[in-house]
Amino acid sequence: MIRRSFLAALAFAAAFPFSAWADAPLKVVATTGMIADAARQVGGDQVEVKGLMGPGVDPHAYRQTRSDIVAMTRSDLILWHGLYLEAQMEEFFHDLGRKRMVVAVAEGVDKSKLHAHDNYADKYDPHLWMSPTLWRDVVIEVQKALTQARPEAADIFAANTEAFLAQIAELEAYGKQVLAAVPENNRVLVTAHDAFGYFGAEYGYDVLGIQGISTQSEAGLNRISELVDTLVDRQLTAVFVESSVSDRSMRALIEGAAARGHQVEVGGQLYSDAMGEPGTYEGTYIGMLDHNITVIAGALGADIPKTGMSGNLSAGF
Ligand SMILES: [Zn+2]
Repeated sequence: MIRRSFLAALAFAAAFPFSAWADAPLKVVATTGMIADAARQVGGDQVEVKGLMGPGVDPHAYRQTRSDIVAMTRSDLILWHGLYLEAQMEEFFHDLGRKRMVVAVAEGVDKSKLHAHDNYADKYDPHLWMSPTLWRDVVIEVQKALTQARPEAADIFAANTEAFLAQIAELEAYGKQVLAAVPENNRVLVTAHDAFGYFGAEYGYDVLGIQGISTQSEAGLNRISELVDTLVDRQLTAVFVESSVSDRSMRALIEGAAARGHQVEVGGQLYSDAMGEPGTYEGTYIGMLDHNITVIAGALGADIPKTGMSGNLSAGF
């Protein structure tokens, strides 16, 4: 008797994949941690999200692994960023899109809000998460994709989205407040690669990267000596390293300035293209940006608490 119903259940499971069971969570795979976080926030208990790229992983260089492919073939919905961020996976996702539900969430954002790519005439700067305003648009694209995959949960997704957007608005306001507390001459962000263009535009900062918009471009000696000139001319004393990019060229920059008798320090490590450790505050989108905003404002001369927007940042960065 028990055996027969067990067999019946197996037959049922074979006929209807997991997601067809209304109470089983929707299986979502997301490329970057930022998109995975948005899917968790919007999806709540309706989704089970797997993020492919962990802390310190560079999305410009990432290629899908065997286990990523297995996870994607078992999922109901695949979310990637698009805008040529995952440059090495672009073709893979276009192929996969013919068989599975695959959505490039950043491609849904109004192109008139985006910056042109430095190196390619027909492409855009993909680092949208650096601007809370733009990231809200991406969160709405995530909501649309989840709703399309599971229409019966539309109301739940709508309520979760509203709550998350309110948190992002709070972050935006905190950023405006503390970054405006930095003396005007110091509002310059020197980083390893050009991930902070939207951040700079949102908060009125000059942004100078050693490498271009992709980490795949070479940092030339000319670029380094140009930046040394800027550091010396503007008497800037802090530059920033990134968790997902090697700091080799940053050291060349600091040494170049020292050779001209100008002392420059690393103002802190920023999360550019990947979030912090899973399970920590910095391993969430809000925590990642709170960290960046707080570290930048503090290192460039604003007198603010190091624990950030809501006291959640690990002290002593
Ligand atoms: Zn980048």
